[in-house]
Amino acid sequence: MVEIVANLHMHTPYSDGHDYHHEIAKAAARAGIDVIIVTDHNVLVRGKDGYVDGVLVLVGEEVHDVQRRPQANNCLVYDAREEVVLFASHPRRLVDEVARRGGLTFFAHPVEYGSRLSEDFAAIPWVDWDVRGFTGIELWNYMTEFKACLWSWPAAAFGAFFPSLLIRGPFKATLRKWDELLAGGRRVVAIGNADAHGTPFQLGPLRKTVFPYDYLFRCVNTHLLIDRPLTQDIARDGRMVYDALRAGRCFVAYDLAGNARGFSFTARSSAARAVMGDDLHRHGATHFEVRCPGIGVITLLRNGRPVATRLGRSLVHTSVEPGTYRVEVRRFFRGWLRGWIYSNPIYVR
Ligand SMILES: [Zn+2]
Repeated sequence: MVEIVANLHMHTPYSDGHDYHHEIAKAAARAGIDVIIVTDHNVLVRGKDGYVDGVLVLVGEEVHDVQRRPQANNCLVYDAREEVVLFASHPRRLVDEVARRGGLTFFAHPVEYGSRLSEDFAAIPWVDWDVRGFTGIELWNYMTEFKACLWSWPAAAFGAFFPSLLIRGPFKATLRKWDELLAGGRRVVAIGNADAHGTPFQLGPLRKTVFPYDYLFRCVNTHLLIDRPLTQDIARDGRMVYDALRAGRCFVAYDLAGNARGFSFTARSSAARAVMGDDLHRHGATHFEVRCPGIGVITLLRNGRPVATRLGRSLVHTSVEPGTYRVEVRRFFRGWLRGWIYSNPIYVR
């Protein structure tokens, strides 16, 4: 398998972003990203798929009901191949209609903490949890985490200049929600994204492009495992990206804390082998192996509870229990133990 780095949530002037697809792709190339999926609000922009400076550009959409008060239920839609915004006011219908078209749905920033500093920083969480059949959730959204740190104007000004001192990892509530959704062996794929807008950010008297696209593409990304190297054939490469996302063959990483390329989480039981996203039908014990590209505090979790922890570059563990196994890695960065890598699960049956 081949690892590629993707960012799957960002905006252009077709909604509320600053730069167009071409410029964003160039920023992605500078940051060393392989794939971007541009997701403007409530519009599927056509004719922008392609390669720019070696970066595969795909176009999806972030759908939400603009009439809803308070705002909630933003859904990232990939590969629906047609406009689905007419279903925005019915999340269940939206998810079903996208699935019917062979597309994928991820609940964007499912947990959010708003800031009272400005109406622009209100929380936009997911609230309709009775919806079934979605592909996954956005476990870590960089801008959502930043927004949660805007508890006062001094904090906001500090964060605007030193964001890496604030960013700590996915919210505990989001991780808890994910484990709750995974309980019972349900499949829910986690992704992590920038939600880049590239807009000059106004914090009271302070005006600054705090988060240019290329900065954010060096932060929270989704690393995908695809079958073959990208071929420059847009349709074929897009297929591999969407297949990896659908299967959960991916992990979320904060690459600023250390380039996470090379991370692996595998399991084997007798002759059966599994990578992230796979079902593993066990014959006796299951052997897990985690490898990291740098030193971190590696934790293997079963059904949301830690079963093994180790400081180092690798962890091996043997278990006879079925369950949903996933990995979290934290790492010392800028004086703090921060979230680094969050794997998708291996489902041991
Ligand atoms: Zn967004």
